[in-house]
Amino acid sequence: MIAELRSIPSSAEMKAPQSVPLLTVDGLKAYYKVKLFGIDREVRAVDDVSLRINRNEIYGLAGESSSGKSSLIKTIAGAIRPPLRVVEGSVRFSFKDGDRDIYRLSPRELSAIRWSHLSYIMQGSMSVLNPVRRIKHAFADFALPHVAAKGADFTGLVERHLKRLHLDPAVLQAYPHELSGGMRQRVTIALATICSPEFIIADEPTTALDVIVQKGVLAMIREIQQEFGSSVLFVTHDMAVHANLTDRLGIMYAGRLVEEGRTRDVFRRPLHPYTAHLISSLPRIGDEAPKKGLEGSPPSLADPPPGCRFHPRCPLAIDICRREAPPMVELLPGHRTACHVAQADPARVRPVA
Ligand code: SF4
Repeated sequence: MIAELRSIPSSAEMKAPQSVPLLTVDGLKAYYKVKLFGIDREVRAVDDVSLRINRNEIYGLAGESSSGKSSLIKTIAGAIRPPLRVVEGSVRFSFKDGDRDIYRLSPRELSAIRWSHLSYIMQGSMSVLNPVRRIKHAFADFALPHVAAKGADFTGLVERHLKRLHLDPAVLQAYPHELSGGMRQRVTIALATICSPEFIIADEPTTALDVIVQKGVLAMIREIQQEFGSSVLFVTHDMAVHANLTDRLGIMYAGRLVEEGRTRDVFRRPLHPYTAHLISSLPRIGDEAPKKGLEGSPPSLADPPPGCRFHPRCPLAIDICRREAPPMVELLPGHRTACHVAQADPARVRPVA
């Protein structure tokens, strides 16, 4: 997998990201208000997350299932529905035509920034494309209200966009089931980017695709990001994809961001034991040593453990870890971690052999 993806140049190699935040998330808390066994509970899916995503960079978000990745990106996109609600914090975009605080916008203002400024590539193409309507109807249904062109001008615009992304405009006449899974996903990416959005959220867009098709889809996302100068928030649990695609990487565990840095720095020198485990679990050519899984499972976010939420599974846990939640601290330039042990002695955190 790693070898397959190495041929995709990172954006750092192609066009340097700018250190100007396009997205600023501050102290964000988003909880599900649910009833568990008849008792009102809060599920703390996003718990005090702060991050910045710069212009023209691909920011990766990693973490296993139930880490809060999906809730975080829905919250950033302003696409939450009850029982999930924002309890605290802010999500601000600095678009070229002005700043927007997502949770201070009216529904109409929010709708106006969708597609042209902020776009979302969904996980499964079949959840976007209507199986009984041709692809051209999907473009008309979703994109037509957001562009100035109508009729033949709109068709011409769609065809030019498809060609720019190396897709044959003949796909417009096809029904979704007539296309392969990879082609459907390319079409949904073309659909999501037709308005050249400044910020793109890509939610596991390569899950369920085989490695060769995945490589093509990742190259397409890289090309779009370069051509439009967009910023991309790319979410996947697949660390090999992050290693080859993203510029910076955030690691989530149990609703919190636990490490963040330039992707190459995080892979070369992880500063959180959970990240070290994720990296160690990647297969490497020639490495025949059996991989050790992490014991235990992620905690319930309705009743997370006190202190560091990783402590029940952490091989380096000490007393303070069970009592106090570690703050996020920048230990190396641009490289932050929330770990008591790393903050005392970063050399103690090493990839597991
Ligand atoms: Fe492990 Fe403690 Fe660091 Fe948490 S704070 S990751 S329990 S060493």
